[in-house]
Amino acid sequence: MAFLIKRAARYGFCSGVRVADIKVRRFAAEGGRGAILGQVVHNERVVEEMEHLGVRTVQSLDEVREPVVVFSAHGVPPSVHRQAREKGLQILDTTCRFVYDIHHASQLALASGSHLVFIGNPGHREVIGYTCDLDPGTYHVIHTLDEAKAVDWGVYPGITVFYQTTLNAEEYEEVVRVIEQVNPRTRRADTICYATKENQDAARRLAEDPDLDLVLVIGGRESANTRHLFDICARARASQLIQGAQDIDVAWLDAVRGVGITAGASTPDYVVDEVEARLRDLGGRSA
Ligand code: SF4
Repeated sequence: MAFLIKRAARYGFCSGVRVADIKVRRFAAEGGRGAILGQVVHNERVVEEMEHLGVRTVQSLDEVREPVVVFSAHGVPPSVHRQAREKGLQILDTTCRFVYDIHHASQLALASGSHLVFIGNPGHREVIGYTCDLDPGTYHVIHTLDEAKAVDWGVYPGITVFYQTTLNAEEYEEVVRVIEQVNPRTRRADTICYATKENQDAARRLAEDPDLDLVLVIGGRESANTRHLFDICARARASQLIQGAQDIDVAWLDAVRGVGITAGASTPDYVVDEVEARLRDLGGRSA
């Protein structure tokens, strides 16, 4: 059983999550004691690891008993910053700079009289961060074409559209077009983060690689972006969704010439390394 192993050109943590992960680990290594509001990364193994390092995950500020609260890469509403300070907590802010760009740009758009549209999931922490403190009459969060069609966009003097950063904006083109068609005074904010698109494009190229017969997509079963990567790969090549090296079934490798590896945005590099090491143990040769 000798086969080639190739990784996607881009996979796993985006730069924002990578920086957040490093900041929290450095804080813990220096003896810091803190609690992360929401998961720093949507990955159970990372959450457990952080707990071992002394930085546990909490769901609200009221649960924080440590001197420091950590805000994740997806950010929090300004009111949560204020509440944390009022509680006397120190803040370790790992909010991604691209997320802050959207916070700032949306405030500017609002001040100029524009109605705000956030394309994304209303339950996602990042979107809650943008909208939680706003007057509900000043914005919409839209996730589907039907939702976009259900609103009378014509009543607004101007509209500014923002994208949740963990989406591939290109896939929401139709949704935004519906808004633009009804209201020509619609503007798309220049704040798109391409991290998700880059991972998806690289996964597609990997799955189309003629040297490969199988693609392993690594990520949490609950991770929406991992599932999306899997769907992209499965369209072009036999693919398996795994959480880690322990899920590899030797029978999959029967007569394969090459195995591709990609990983969802919440998968740490060491999990990818473990998968590749396991494949090498089973006869693989890294490209
Ligand atoms: S997806 Fe983009 S904006 Fe969101 S945390 Fe990652 S790098 Fe930052």
